[in-house]
Amino acid sequence: MSRKAFLSRRVVTPQGIIAAAVLVEDGRILDVVPPDQLPAHVSVDDFGDAAILPGLVDSHIHINEPGRTEWEGFRTATRAAAAGGYTLLVDMPLNCLPATTTVAALEAKRKAASGQCHVDWMAWGGVVNDNQEHVESLAAAGVPGFKCFLIHPGIDGFTMVNEQELRAALPHVARIGLPLLVHAELPGPVDAATHRLAEADWSKYATYLQSRPDEAELSAIRWMLSLCRKFHFRLHIVHLATSQALDMLRAAKSGGLPVSVETCPHYLHLSSDKIPDGQTLFKCAPPIRSRENREKLWQGLREGVIDLVATDHSPCPPEMKRLSERNFRTAWGGIAGLSLALPVMWTEASVRGFTLSDITRWMADGPARLAGCETRKGRIAKGFDADFVVFEPETEFIATEDHLHYRHRVSPYLGEKLRGVVKATYLRGDCIFSDGEFPGEPEGRELRR
Ligand SMILES: [Zn+2]
Repeated sequence: MSRKAFLSRRVVTPQGIIAAAVLVEDGRILDVVPPDQLPAHVSVDDFGDAAILPGLVDSHIHINEPGRTEWEGFRTATRAAAAGGYTLLVDMPLNCLPATTTVAALEAKRKAASGQCHVDWMAWGGVVNDNQEHVESLAAAGVPGFKCFLIHPGIDGFTMVNEQELRAALPHVARIGLPLLVHAELPGPVDAATHRLAEADWSKYATYLQSRPDEAELSAIRWMLSLCRKFHFRLHIVHLATSQALDMLRAAKSGGLPVSVETCPHYLHLSSDKIPDGQTLFKCAPPIRSRENREKLWQGLREGVIDLVATDHSPCPPEMKRLSERNFRTAWGGIAGLSLALPVMWTEASVRGFTLSDITRWMADGPARLAGCETRKGRIAKGFDADFVVFEPETEFIATEDHLHYRHRVSPYLGEKLRGVVKATYLRGDCIFSDGEFPGEPEGRELRR
């Protein structure tokens, strides 16, 4: 591939947002130079005032293939990713069949992904009730870390772990030094609350919210921190929804525990007071909590207690949301957020005084670190993959189905006015999305640790 340059007055680099030319050769960033030092005889894409960000990394997505491709698949998920400015997805080990809990299942996933991906991808391994002896072989086969559930995941095919099972797995996880991503809710508080609400009106969002109290998250996080102290493994809390955990997480981090924390765009954008009754599109677990809670989550990001933002893109066929039944008890829990995550985040972040550098830290560099590819993905710097998003931060638009490119065009964000438009996405220097089109053949690759 010949040498080329990407020019903009706003390139988001680790040194700040600068006017620069990004020189690219063979899919890698050769250098980042001031515009007046652009070498002669290089073809230039000048994006003017549009910002160039590093390609985003989503460390929490459910692609569902193989096995539940009718929910979502590699082709549709990676198209939606490209349209949303993402160039790397890290797939969760559940909702697909087989779940990614053995090397054989990982190989089945690789086969399913082959030739279909518009962006790069990786696969988390699963830690379930009976696969402790597969942990180290999955690591050797290239997964960047593991996911486990402390509560029923809402689907068969992937089991939660109890204390004994977790204690059997943790020495393996600690030995290989990879992160354990934990869905941190304990069943006790959820079961007790749900039992009390047996006769309640489940068309009301408030009923669902009460059924998954803050205490379910708090007790799970407290327990995981104590195990982290004992077993010395890298702990990552996925989709933190309760701000009440921030104090103990801050204390754990400042005490030197190897813990990282993620939250999601929906917890930072939505709040329970705005969720209409019967609107099961908004159901996810843990649940979207109060407006006050949301503001505290933003404070957690500001202070760095929360390290990163991932989508938890968790789609399903629309009928599983049971929209006509309006029942929060029986509807599938999960929000499909891949294509709109960047504008949703920027809409909220920009009014709170954050910059595109903050967005990049939360949505590119942070998730790349978690997945162990931070020397290759997540930054615009020499030697990194030439993955970019061309983003118009000032342009506003109304979210419509045309903006969603995943399999089922269902979203809680439809109709909202959002800020910031993804104009184009580049993977290793090649345009993979531009103004609603997906030029070229799928050339995404699997990254292995
Ligand atoms: Zn998830």
